[in-house]
Amino acid sequence: MIVKPRIRGFICTTAHPTGCAAHVREQINYVAAQGAASANGFKNVLVLGCSGGYGLASRIVAGFGYQANTLGISFEKAPAENKTASAGWYNNLAFEAAAKAAGVYARTLDGDAFSDAMRDQAAEVIRQDMGQIDLVVYSLASPVRQHPHTGELHRSSIKPLGEVLDIKTVHVEKGEVSEVSLEPATQEESANTVAVMGGEDWELWMQMLKEQDLLAPGAQTVAYTYIGSELTWPIYWEGTLGLAKADLDRASRAISDNLADIGGSARVAVLKAIVSQASSAIPVVPLYVALLFKVMKEQGIHEDCISHIYRLFSTQLVPGIEQRLDDQGRIRVDDQELSDAVQGAVKQRWPQVTTENLPQLGDLEGFREDFLRIFGFGIAGVDYDAEVDPLGIG
Ligand code: NAD
Repeated sequence: MIVKPRIRGFICTTAHPTGCAAHVREQINYVAAQGAASANGFKNVLVLGCSGGYGLASRIVAGFGYQANTLGISFEKAPAENKTASAGWYNNLAFEAAAKAAGVYARTLDGDAFSDAMRDQAAEVIRQDMGQIDLVVYSLASPVRQHPHTGELHRSSIKPLGEVLDIKTVHVEKGEVSEVSLEPATQEESANTVAVMGGEDWELWMQMLKEQDLLAPGAQTVAYTYIGSELTWPIYWEGTLGLAKADLDRASRAISDNLADIGGSARVAVLKAIVSQASSAIPVVPLYVALLFKVMKEQGIHEDCISHIYRLFSTQLVPGIEQRLDDQGRIRVDDQELSDAVQGAVKQRWPQVTTENLPQLGDLEGFREDFLRIFGFGIAGVDYDAEVDPLGIG
């Protein structure tokens, strides 16, 4: 079949098999070209949420920057005869094929990472194939979580807290800037969001790995968070998502305590805004990201997903390195996004931006391109008029 993008709101319902493979290859090539990573960095890495965005980039840096064995876990949709798979499904295939060709161990488990059944399966694979894990990357982003003990289905809400929020946003497809009115979350919606995106599941994973003696001495774990600019705080850091992320901070301290006797540690790493499936669904964020990308590109400091994660690993995670932590003990690699020069320029543009001047003040085009790239579209060298088999790569 010939695969074209089919966009519905903030999701693309098709993914291009060869495009996704080429996107993974581009990221591998970027990491391989850095050549600076030490081969002694990581041996066995578990990546939860390995199939896209920051989790995929982490797996690529671990596997191809540090030649680490990786076990990846994700929840993706398989293809059917006439229907493409989700992008992450093709990404996993492409990663595994490239790892195999490079002689690096890679195994992927597809299913619900929030379930005890998946934890059991992962434990079995680690025991049989890897031994002990020295780095666990927690990069899940999901709108729902079925609690493994109560069976309750929690749904997250991306909402402000306290009062109605009137704020600027952009319709990504139409390019129209407008004001939206966002209703505040109820207490129940807030609690559900913490249950989905907070730290409890991370703790359960780390407890299981420790109890089953699957963590190497000095093992590290890192979970990703976003704080961002005051411009997005009302919907992010001071909203339901911020509550969930604060719970991640709580969990990092609890996990660190639990790992102390094996010399291990847990950190939350604060990353920069990028375009991902998860971030595209957050109101206001696409407008902020469009302005941010324009400013960072103008200042020559734009980082994409893979270059950002490479910087995280090589300057903050590699064993023995001195980490740059904030007063909450978080690793900060959002320093460039939050620099005065960048934030000053973005904040100056924010009140001025309209549908008419967005092309001058912002980089919505860059946002759209990155969005399509997530689904394997717009990748250099891919023939999008060629027939492809949705069941595989090629
Ligand atoms: P993403 O949507 O690109 O990837 C999410 C991953 O989670 C995918 O691999 C998906 O398969 C997996 N997943 C979802 N539900 C699952 C389940 N039940 N079981 C197994 N796997 C499941 O997300 P992303 O934007 O890369 O976000 C990853 C983390 O990084 C999140 O914690 C997010 O808050 C954080 N972060 C994102 C940004 C950003 O701008 N995108 C910025 C800073 C921090």
